[in-house]
Amino acid sequence: MSGSLFALVRARIPSQGKTLIETPAGERITYGDMLARTGRLANALVQRGVKPGDRVAVQVEKSPENLMLFLAVIRAGAVYLPLNTAYTAYEVEYFVGDAEPRLIVCDPSRRDALAPIAELRGAALDTLDANGRGSLPDLAAALPDTFEDIARAESDLACILYTSGTTGRSKGAMLTHRNLGSNADTLVGYWRFTEADVLLHALPIYHTHGLFTAAMTVMLAGGTMLWLPKFDADQVIALLPRVTTLMGVPTHYVRLVQHDGLTREATAHMRLFTSGSAPLLAETHDQFRAKTGHAILERYGMTETGMNTSNPYDGERIAGTVGFPLPDITVRVANPGTGEALPPGEVGVLEVKGPNVFAGYWRMPEKTKEEFRPDGFFITGDVGMIDARGYVHIVGRAKDLIISGGFNVYPKEVESEIDLLPGVVESAVIGCPHPDFGEGVTAVVVKAQGATLTERDVIAALEGRLAKFKLPKRVLFVDELPRNTMGKLQKNLLREENKALYG
Ligand code: ATP
Ligand code: MG
Repeated sequence: MSGSLFALVRARIPSQGKTLIETPAGERITYGDMLARTGRLANALVQRGVKPGDRVAVQVEKSPENLMLFLAVIRAGAVYLPLNTAYTAYEVEYFVGDAEPRLIVCDPSRRDALAPIAELRGAALDTLDANGRGSLPDLAAALPDTFEDIARAESDLACILYTSGTTGRSKGAMLTHRNLGSNADTLVGYWRFTEADVLLHALPIYHTHGLFTAAMTVMLAGGTMLWLPKFDADQVIALLPRVTTLMGVPTHYVRLVQHDGLTREATAHMRLFTSGSAPLLAETHDQFRAKTGHAILERYGMTETGMNTSNPYDGERIAGTVGFPLPDITVRVANPGTGEALPPGEVGVLEVKGPNVFAGYWRMPEKTKEEFRPDGFFITGDVGMIDARGYVHIVGRAKDLIISGGFNVYPKEVESEIDLLPGVVESAVIGCPHPDFGEGVTAVVVKAQGATLTERDVIAALEGRLAKFKLPKRVLFVDELPRNTMGKLQKNLLREENKALYG
């Protein structure tokens, strides 16, 4: 039997007539339609010269047809490579050079800018727009809707997914059919997805959260998705009556709790709300619970691994934690230098092992080697702790650790203290080059409207609470903190802006 992810999708189809995707505009794609549409597209890919193992790079607006294209690439035995729609042509050039795709599919508005890049790299170029039209679906329309799926081994590549680039240049994570299938299957069980579920899908699908955690999990459960091009709080509130679950990033939940339409009545029928991709503030979790009675289920994952940990479905969902390791995934906290496992309660680097862990970084054998321990554990680069009850806590990223005057300062500890001060909305603590200390602890703070807090006030308030070496040397006020579409705080931008702060 083929180890292809599509073989798994196929095996789980509840019935041809069951709805896979519906849109607010009334478009409806059944599982049977999905087979026909992906069959035509797979034939089109073959006509464009795509062979098993070839990469297909896709930078298009989110649409149901975009999801069909992903599935068609898998059916054709090729490797799907989605790209963030925000990347410029210049950035796409890097990814195309790195991945050498056989075919590039882009939005029609990008065609002229990408044509020279495609030509230079010997790739074919096709278009697909936000309405599902373009040269690729045009070609597909004339082709048969039957396609014999290309058999793949479980260890073959299904996808190269570039990481978000939060801590540096994005790396291409090589994901196998088994990585993707096993993780989505685990989530079906852990989060109790069934055919009866309707997921409100408002995430981008060039990222692991929207494509795998959300869409693949629903498909393996034989469920349905209500498909939105992007997150819009008004629209999400209006559509809640039609769905049973929502997966979001923390900024989505921040917007929902500010919305008058978020009430106990509006969410009474909902089965599950999940959050991930960035830390959910305990405050947001508490506000959401107070307004709806629902405890948001926070989980933790990354491009390289899919989901690693999750708060429990039935047990206590604890704000500020990311829950327990998922079944068949081992998570340990290790001494970053030696790799030695640390006991509960101690802070170290999080390491994971399991069928979800990727096959390495595309064309970066050295980097891949550095990020794995000899016993096969992947070093996530996230700093965390496992408490006595087994809940995993994320403290931050190893790259954000500040070393000031030879002492380690965990930004989260300082941020938590600042966030408690009256008049503070949120904060980010970063290290900036400092002539005496190596790095100077620097706080970037968002004040509440009308708050009169000063730099001196913040430092004075922290003085009795934190050791002297942890105190910010400077406190800067900003209107908002920089975040990307996945709600990730971009500390690299803050560091860049303030690199000359201490001369
Ligand atoms: P890059 O690796 O290119 O710097 P990135 O790590 O942001 O970018 P992703 O793979 O999209 O790219 O994100 C994974 C990271 O997101 C994790 O390593 C972790 O730092 C963070 N993350 C995910 N879920 C959570 C969560 N629930 N709480 C805290 N952090 C989270
Ligand atoms: Mg990362």
